[in-house]
Amino acid sequence: MRLVTGKISHESNTFSVIPTDLEAFRQRGYYRDKEILCALRGTNTPLGGFIAGAERSGIHLIPTVAADATPAGPVTREAFETLLGQLIDGIRDAGTLDGVLLQLHGAMVTEDHDDGEGEILAAIRTEVGDDVPVVATVDLHANVTERMVQKATALIGYDTNPHVDGRERGEEALSCIERVICREIEPVMVRAQPPLMPHPLRVRTDTGPLVHLLEAAAKWESETGVLDVSVFGGWPHVDVRDAGLSILALTDGDSELALRVARDISRAAVLKKEDFRPQTLVEIDDAVTRAMKAPNGPVVLAEIGDSPAGGSSGDGTFILRALLEAGADDAAIVMRDVEAVATAVAAGVRGEFSMEIGGKTDDMHGRPVLITGRVRAITDGTYVNRGPMATGVTVDLGRTAVIRVGEKLDVVLTERRISPVDPEVFRQAGVSPESKKILVLKSGGHFRAAYTSMAADIIDVNVPGVTSADLTSFEYHGVRRPIFPLDDDV
Ligand SMILES: [Zn+2]
Repeated sequence: MRLVTGKISHESNTFSVIPTDLEAFRQRGYYRDKEILCALRGTNTPLGGFIAGAERSGIHLIPTVAADATPAGPVTREAFETLLGQLIDGIRDAGTLDGVLLQLHGAMVTEDHDDGEGEILAAIRTEVGDDVPVVATVDLHANVTERMVQKATALIGYDTNPHVDGRERGEEALSCIERVICREIEPVMVRAQPPLMPHPLRVRTDTGPLVHLLEAAAKWESETGVLDVSVFGGWPHVDVRDAGLSILALTDGDSELALRVARDISRAAVLKKEDFRPQTLVEIDDAVTRAMKAPNGPVVLAEIGDSPAGGSSGDGTFILRALLEAGADDAAIVMRDVEAVATAVAAGVRGEFSMEIGGKTDDMHGRPVLITGRVRAITDGTYVNRGPMATGVTVDLGRTAVIRVGEKLDVVLTERRISPVDPEVFRQAGVSPESKKILVLKSGGHFRAAYTSMAADIIDVNVPGVTSADLTSFEYHGVRRPIFPLDDDV
């Protein structure tokens, strides 16, 4: 059995001013051909699952391109056409093939297309025709469109957020395409799209309204003829028609059953509407006071409005400024600032450092803030995720410098944007996250996978920015209306 495989993945944020060009893919992870197998074998990602499953069952995988960029503004025309061109060329060069197996995200917007994945799947369908199965994994934050559903044979969504089931879903997708090729199943997909566009804070899978919807999905999955049911929380930081929640039901040849399943869960979602409002947000000053008064650490302050994993600049200063003003001196924060890294490198380890950092990308994440201290460490900024999310994946922060301010406040400055979802981000810089009283994490929720067990307390902080929890603070023009939470009547 010969399967072409690849990945073109991006979660776009149309409110971000940072373009996503080819360099952005190179910085995060951009592999060609056999390189893909070497880089992603053994990782907890869908491609890691494709590779593990294929090697176990003797399936021949033909790798083409695997590219992933940190979330930011729309993908540039050049980047999109280059990556899609490499995927299509790979399919052409593969000769006889039995199927195409992809890792996609599902919330990609490009300069030319609101529905990046729909465009990718349509191009593949044109290339391979109607008889070759095309199966893709998609993220729980996917905004699933009708075009994606029409062009793919099957789409398999993550069941977890934070996403810790990448490899598992990859293996499921592989098994699905294998069964299609062997004519054991004939998938039919139906999508339902309730008028809901929740913030990611409320699409966790360990608590909140999604838990009940996933339970309903699991119940349907145990019925004869139902192959898979995915509940997508969607991604609200893109101003496109299909942003938001969707349900996808996959049955074995029974479109009526698929429609019934999708509609049933969609109705349940609408009934839970009010539950999708963020409920745990704490204002900045209150959060800092609570963290400083806590008897034990680390207390995690999640900087919800500045999450690079959602397209933000990663140089927001709101919480850092509040910590400095409150005199908190036992804390750690990761912040991107290329100029500041260069200054620290020039000063050298133990050198004095005094400059305004952060707040330099746009006007949504606070003004630059002056810090004065000493350079404690300079590293190459590379490490391997220990997980449980994206375990085994190599991360490159660019050059990284740690500035020690006062007694024990460590500012980890990086050249590249990162949501510090894996504590190795601190350890590679010589900072022990467990020993800090306060950890500021520029992350919307993925950090919970690794930090929940070590944190004495976790506080979602209501910080403005490109990934703000207040969706009514953004100007939407493209999304379908009415929609929760922009409109009262849905
Ligand atoms: Zn996601």
